[in-house]
Amino acid sequence: MPSAFRCQLSRSFGVQLDPKLLTIGFARRASTYKRADLLFQDAERLRHIARDIGPIQLVYGGKAHPHDEGGKNLIRRVVGGAGGLADVIHTVYVENYDMRWGKLITSGVDLWLNNPMRPQEASGTSGMKAALNGVPSFSVVDGWWAEGHIEGVTGWAIGSDEVAEDPSVEIAALYDKLEREIVPMFYGRPNRYTEIMRYSIALNGSFFNTQRMVLQYIANAYKMQREVAVPLAKV
Ligand SMILES: *Cc1c(COP(=O)(O)O)cnc(C)c1O
Repeated sequence: MPSAFRCQLSRSFGVQLDPKLLTIGFARRASTYKRADLLFQDAERLRHIARDIGPIQLVYGGKAHPHDEGGKNLIRRVVGGAGGLADVIHTVYVENYDMRWGKLITSGVDLWLNNPMRPQEASGTSGMKAALNGVPSFSVVDGWWAEGHIEGVTGWAIGSDEVAEDPSVEIAALYDKLEREIVPMFYGRPNRYTEIMRYSIALNGSFFNTQRMVLQYIANAYKMQREVAVPLAKV
């Protein structure tokens, strides 16, 4: 976790986070399908991972539409879930999530969590922003991650890529991978973890960016007949 990000968090929210601890980020609009509260579904399992496997801290962000009661309840459940674990896991819920915070969070954490309900995620651009900053995704295989994911190379998948999986299977898979792969690697094999950070820049950041997208629009949509089409996916 970069110190500038930590300073910003403590200036804005009076919270001290430890730059050495695995920091998991989750920031996006609080829409119900994005399931911001999924990590807290089994609080005791999360507590066990943080206490016995390796410490973690969490940074959340995201506003709900004023008329979206489901979205507002989601935020309440995240804040409630985080409050119940406050003795083991420090969590910040950033207020007024906007592009400035989006930039800070996607460049300031160590792991980008994304667990929408499949197949509802069209893209998930925050994961691409994270990749550009060397922050690997830990994500359900949906939206852009269906193309950007290479297991253990650009990040990690939550569950399989089969649609309509039972949520409880996904939740178990999330904890299993956090407990057995990600947390042990972050603390036990830091060079391997930084290798994944580099691959996320090299393989994801180099491809999932605006320049390539605009070029594809020009070549494949606007000038389709005259120009050579740019391939849709590299990985
Ligand atoms: C990046 C960003 C988004 C989009 O994130 P998704 O992962 O596509 O949901 C939304 N709002 C803000 C402020 C952002 O910075």
